[in-house]
Amino acid sequence: MKIYIPEKVKVCGKVYDITYPYNFVDDSVYYGMCRHATLRILLGNKSESGETLPKDIIDETFIHELTHTINHIYLDNKLDENEVGRLSEGLYQVIVDNDFIKGKDK
Ligand SMILES: [Zn+2]
Repeated sequence: MKIYIPEKVKVCGKVYDITYPYNFVDDSVYYGMCRHATLRILLGNKSESGETLPKDIIDETFIHELTHTINHIYLDNKLDENEVGRLSEGLYQVIVDNDFIKGKDK
């Protein structure tokens, strides 16, 4: 299952620009990052050792960063990183297991 990663995503009326693939610096442990102040979501496609990430990992990272935007806007960042991670993993599995996403990438 491939999730379509758009160039922009609207969350509560705020439009986040998505940069994908984003080149994090070498040996960065980040696959994704959300910058609320500038409304940007950055998604990498390389591992810290420079290998190309499987699309499933990129897709899950996309859902994870979206969960951060929802946490920021709707929950005043009350969820910690672990809670965001668990929630986004659950959302990703429900989306994938039920084939909810249909887009250009599929
Ligand atoms: Zn996170």
